[in-house]
Amino acid sequence: MASSHLLFLILLSVFISTTFSSPSLIRLPTGHRKFGLNDDLYCDSWRLSVETNNAGEWSTIPSQCQVFVQNYMTGQRYLSDSVIVANYSFAYASSVEIATDGKDAWVFDIDETLLSNLPYYARHGFGSEPFDEESFDEWVDLADAPALPASLNLYNQVKEMGFKIFLLTGRSEDQRNATIKNLLFAGYSDWERLILRGTSDQGKLAIVYKSEKRSELVNEGYRIRGSSGDQWSDLLGFAVAERSFKLPNPMYFIA
Ligand SMILES: [Mg+2]
Repeated sequence: MASSHLLFLILLSVFISTTFSSPSLIRLPTGHRKFGLNDDLYCDSWRLSVETNNAGEWSTIPSQCQVFVQNYMTGQRYLSDSVIVANYSFAYASSVEIATDGKDAWVFDIDETLLSNLPYYARHGFGSEPFDEESFDEWVDLADAPALPASLNLYNQVKEMGFKIFLLTGRSEDQRNATIKNLLFAGYSDWERLILRGTSDQGKLAIVYKSEKRSELVNEGYRIRGSSGDQWSDLLGFAVAERSFKLPNPMYFIA
């Protein structure tokens, strides 16, 4: 037993010394270590950590992941991941018994949930550039964002089932008209209420603001059966939905 322990310790020390002293070891800006992973493999694992919220708060995508994120967002994978989320959302929604009192609610986030800002982010490095509020607001004013196809489909399905639809967005009240114009342009209609950040909501973390607004719906007697959002701050906090559905978004993080 003693000799096998010794052998194990020797092998472990050889592994540690070769791994950690390797000149090819790349130190990432975040302090992470790549351990010789190629960019595709590293970035795919980074994306998993981001989607599962293991990464916690982050600002911009790792520079070596720009091509990966671009390929993910513009290829079939983003659409496919979104379709699967919508399919599970639909399956759950179908299992809900809708009451006749009109109080069964579904909450949708807007950006990267109902609407895709991919045309904007394609011009801004797919999340590799720090967020620029001014240029993003100009983009919002154009009201030109297309629908995320899987979400539009789900939206129409839950609407037909009889859910009351609430749109809860971090956009500001002064963006209401542009947002309505864009939603209609993208094919959305007949929502119950569009909730935007008012003056008293400015400066609040999204997770607080959105929880407070959901809480108000609960106080009005709504049962929030489902919620769809691309950020964990759309879904967590308090007054959370009975089921929450996280859409993919490897381009940015909102606390
Ligand atoms: Mg969003």
